[in-house]
Amino acid sequence: MNPEKVHYAKLIDSVEERILGGGAILRDEAEALLSTPDEFLQRLLAAADRIRIRFKGTKFDSCSLINARSGRCGEDCAFCAQSAHHGTDCDVYALKPGEEILAAARAAKESGAARFCTVTSGGALSAREFEDLVKSLEKVHAEVDIELDASLGFMDDERAERLASAGVTRYNHNLETSKDYYSKICTTHRFDQRVDTVRTVMNKGFSACSGGIMGMGETPLQRLDLAFTLAELGVDCVPINILNPRPGTPLYNTAQPEPLEILKTVAIFRLILPKATIKIAGGRERNLGDFQAMALRSGANGMIIGGYLTTGGRCVEEDINMVRKAGFVIS
Ligand code: SF4
Repeated sequence: MNPEKVHYAKLIDSVEERILGGGAILRDEAEALLSTPDEFLQRLLAAADRIRIRFKGTKFDSCSLINARSGRCGEDCAFCAQSAHHGTDCDVYALKPGEEILAAARAAKESGAARFCTVTSGGALSAREFEDLVKSLEKVHAEVDIELDASLGFMDDERAERLASAGVTRYNHNLETSKDYYSKICTTHRFDQRVDTVRTVMNKGFSACSGGIMGMGETPLQRLDLAFTLAELGVDCVPINILNPRPGTPLYNTAQPEPLEILKTVAIFRLILPKATIKIAGGRERNLGDFQAMALRSGANGMIIGGYLTTGGRCVEEDINMVRKAGFVIS
């Protein structure tokens, strides 16, 4: 579609009506919406909000993370402070003991998080580390009333089954960016390997959590590619991170998207993924600033709270307060 000839009000209204009726947005419609002029932006955000209300209601999905093994990763993801290929000052430590993971899960529950996600750096844990972690998660599952997520890198069938038996219900493995931009972000593994892990965990019955990072130098069309790939895979949960450039990483000097561009992206992701949980995640504080609450009325219905893997977040009470004031219910 030629952006100069698009009637934006009609386009937004017809796409919304179709999605609310159970249909899907077309690729060329999503491309046209990338050029939504400012005077129609509120209309687009409001449409995404109504679609969120229809398909996801007001229940909020909050997730608290523990970085259970940090740094020394052999992969070279250009955004990541934990890669051993970059000269960063991130914390480096081995797998945390079970008591620390249990204490973090209890703290997550007390803070109001609905889910607790255990994350480890690197491609995969050793057999010994994996078994230790499974035992830790079994204990958390037995003692803390919170949904368990895990993000442990590449996954095979056998390990996925062990994690499921330990009580883990959701597995996170972000695709990070589009297939054709992936080689600019990582050269030590392929995009298709990431897709394989998402498929593996879905085949084993996990709720799949997979999203990406915007602001890594990708084009808006490549962001759409990512969203349509996630929709084709049928993932349940889509974290949208916005790059928080870390000193020492190759992306440190990358220009950052403006808040209105981020809100537009969140809204278009909602149109492409009407039934998914869409979480605003890492980098929201730095890149959205005062616009964070608006993201919750532009299609998002979840957040990561309490900080990220190598950077802190803002005060949890402030976040929970914002979520309630935006009209959500925290379970
Ligand atoms: S994103 Fe994950 S795989 Fe990539 S460098 Fe960081 S810890 Fe390693």
